[in-house]
Amino acid sequence: MRNVPPRRTRQRPTAMPVGKPLSRREMLAWLVSLSAVAAGGACSIGGLLAFLARRAESAALIPTITPQLTPNLTPTVPPLPPDVIPRSAWNALPPDHTAAEEFGFASAENPTGWFVYSGDLAAIYTTAVIHHSFPILRDGGTMRALQDIHRNTRQWADIGYHFGIDGAGKVYEGRDIRVRGASVAGYNTGSLGIVLMGNFEQEAPSSAQVVALQRLLYWLKGAYRLTHLAGHYEFNPTTVCPGRNMRPYIGILTESLGLQRGTGGYVPPKVQSQPVGATCC
Ligand SMILES: [Zn+2]
Repeated sequence: MRNVPPRRTRQRPTAMPVGKPLSRREMLAWLVSLSAVAAGGACSIGGLLAFLARRAESAALIPTITPQLTPNLTPTVPPLPPDVIPRSAWNALPPDHTAAEEFGFASAENPTGWFVYSGDLAAIYTTAVIHHSFPILRDGGTMRALQDIHRNTRQWADIGYHFGIDGAGKVYEGRDIRVRGASVAGYNTGSLGIVLMGNFEQEAPSSAQVVALQRLLYWLKGAYRLTHLAGHYEFNPTTVCPGRNMRPYIGILTESLGLQRGTGGYVPPKVQSQPVGATCC
């Protein structure tokens, strides 16, 4: 019988808790476990390599994800991330191009109109901006309810965000990703808007929501070469969006995904002019 050397016990980061909303204590414990892993392996060359390997592992957190790189992504064929529920499945209304605040199609004379990007979307999107859906609450909040508010109250042509995540962690297609969003005043051109259902000044995001957001961002980072992650309040300081209970997760996700935090990546993109007859959506 061969001697089998004893297996070394690898120090692994604690997995992000799932199944219920994270308490501050659980979130802190998770963060501390990541830090402990990082600190534990950095005392030798071998240790450093192990540290780097573990850091990469902790950055992925969900190691089964394979990013689908699409370097020549064009607005004509934008793939949806995996497991995203399309607009048709939540009975989205088509855009209303008579909407008062987003009237018609953008032009030099009408810069706030509906703008369909042309060219490589990966050269346009640099920053994902996180929102909460206040006043729509986490449990039972729907994309259609948000769309109704944005169309009827805000007078926008469509829901303002490109993606939404409900309390159960389901991810939904929002505004067509080929179209400029309506969610970050003054910084919409080139910003990718993601909303989590909830009023996170009062309630907490569910762990399923945070994990789904991480998976979505991981895919978007690969597909669109995102470099930055920000909360809405960082662009527009007069808002508390996405709420005090969501803000700590933005830092954790930024670190775990190898992104940079804040507005520093935002450069108004050199977008090509509106295609003639831009009625893709
Ligand atoms: Zn917001």
